[in-house]
This record gives sequence, C-alpha cells and structure tokens, in this order.
Amino acid sequence: MEFDLASLCQEMVAIPSVSHDEEKMADFVESHLSRISGLELIRIGNNLIAKSAGGRPKKVLLVGHLDTVPPDGNEIPQVKQGRIHGLGSADMKGGLAVMLGLASIANSLSVDTNFVFYSCEEVSSKYSGLLEIERMSPDSLNGDVAVLMEPTGGRVEAGCQGTMRVKIQVRGQRAHTARPWMGVNAIHRSGAIITRLAGVALENSVIDGLQYQESLQVVKVEGGVANNVVPDLATITLNYRFAPNKDVDRAFAYVNSLVADLLKPTDVIELEEGVSGAVPNLNEPLISSLLAASRAVPRAKLGWTDVAFFSARGIPATNFGPGDPLVAHTKDEFVEVSEIKAVFDSVRLALNG
Ligand SMILES: [Zn+2]
Repeated sequence: MEFDLASLCQEMVAIPSVSHDEEKMADFVESHLSRISGLELIRIGNNLIAKSAGGRPKKVLLVGHLDTVPPDGNEIPQVKQGRIHGLGSADMKGGLAVMLGLASIANSLSVDTNFVFYSCEEVSSKYSGLLEIERMSPDSLNGDVAVLMEPTGGRVEAGCQGTMRVKIQVRGQRAHTARPWMGVNAIHRSGAIITRLAGVALENSVIDGLQYQESLQVVKVEGGVANNVVPDLATITLNYRFAPNKDVDRAFAYVNSLVADLLKPTDVIELEEGVSGAVPNLNEPLISSLLAASRAVPRAKLGWTDVAFFSARGIPATNFGPGDPLVAHTKDEFVEVSEIKAVFDSVRLALNG
C-alpha cells in the first residue's frame, strides 16, 4: 500500500481529538487500517487494536494515544519549511503516522505486531483507554516488548520516573492571636517542614548508564482560620518524582524519613496518589536494536508515561517517536517531516533486526 507519512500526520492534526472526544480520530484510524489487508481489527470505544497475522517468534506492541490537550489557537495544521505545525503534531500524531505506516507493512515484518491506538492519555490515568482495552480484550496488550511512539526527538527515551502526591497535615492548637502562647501555630510549624523539603539534596540515580534526576516540590499550602485566630491546621501537598529503581512504598518511606523528626504524633502524612516508574531495559533485544538504528544517545525519561503501564505488567517498554518533547503541549508545537520518516525507518529496521 502506498502511504505518505507527512500527509497522514497533517490530516490527523486537522482532526480534533481533545481527550474524551476522540471519536473522529478513531474513525479516521479505523478507516485507514481497514484498507490494509491481513490485519485483524478490534475497536473498543474509541480505542483500536490492529493485529498482524501471528506465527512469528516475537510479538511487539506499538502504542500511541489518539488524544491531545485542549487547543490554543493551533487547531489548523500548517506546513512550513519541512515542519508540520499544529495541535498534537508532536504529541503524538507524528508517532501515529509512523504506526499507520508500519501497519501497512506489518505482515512483511519479521515479528508479530499489535498496533494499539488508545484514548484519554492526556487526562487522569483512570480514564486511560488502555484500561478499557485491558478489561475488554486483555490479550491485545500481551507482547514481548512495547514501543510507545511518544515524542522523543527520534531517540530512545528509556523507562520513566515514578510520581507521587503526598499530603502532610500539620496540627496546632487554636488560640486568640493576642495570646498566641495559649496555642500552637500550625502554619508556623509547617514553615520548618517546607524549608526542609525545599533544601533536600535528592538522589541522582544512574540506571543502565542513564541519569534519573529526582525532584520534589511543594505544590500547595493551605491553612488559616481567621485573622485573629492562631491556626490549628496547615496542609502541605508535595509532588515527588522518583527514579524507577524505587517503588511507591520505598519512595513514600523516603519522603517520610525526610520530615519524620519534625512531625508530631497528631500530624498526618499520607500518600494521596502514587505510581511507580519503569526501568530502562536497554538490554532488551528490540530496545537495543532501536538504540542502534536511531544512532542517537539514549536519554532517561523525566516524567511519567504509559511505559510504566506495560512495565508494571512485566512487559519491557520504551518511548521512541518523532517530535521534540519540549514543544509538546505548547502553542507552537510542531514535528519535523524528516524526523517522522527517520523514526519510521529506525523502527522498521529494528523490527526486522
Ligand atoms: Zn503524549
């Protein structure tokens, strides 16, 4: 089948597909896939899976999300100097074009492939189309290795960090502000905790030669009763991005250890939400072939991606796709046409390696 990756990408950028509203994109991808012979096609809501004929020794999952973040005056694609500009061009309709291109030649590759197109990646992970697929067709997500074609600038961005949100309730005792010695000011107490958290030297873990620089930021502080009352409660919320060699339990224990000596028995430190990251798996044969084919130095993925979804299910996974991750979610988002083609060539080479 003839295909033109650049026009495919451009056509898809023109189709609105903000999270929860991916039907038109799913229709487009479905109609494209249904014209390729020899693929088994499954649609679940606005998710699609295309499976090549089986029987080859290894099965590779190629994975991409159909949704974008909301528009910012950039809904109409523009092609300028070898670049496709517009909402979702880098994140990740360039990657989807590569997937559709590879689907066209799936049955000539030396591995089995499942192409997984899913909805609702850009919103809370509880809405992820991957969960819908897992419920309705768990076998569609089985494979030896997964490649998420998120924007990585055509290099292997391996693994991903874990992330967690922790809330600390700092307790005090109410009193009249004219007689503060009668109470305990919870906001004043929280100051010491915030200072400790802001000054902590975090670990800089190196895994498979890649550096996963951790970060910890206080993201919300709440408290106060009235202008003449010593406050009895202050709440600190923090976001901790941790290296993938720690799981959620270990990472939470670490946050606890940072502030334990400043907390009183009445204070509460709780894990509100947490997901582990994914180790890089650079030695997995397909990932190492991708690395060779890309001819680029791999990078640690800073941030959480669905690589961790697959990793948590025992499937090694990596991010690898066209588009600069730094322009994703910006008004001036774009993808280089040459990069879409280069990524297509690298993945094809690796799948045949
Ligand atoms: Zn994305």
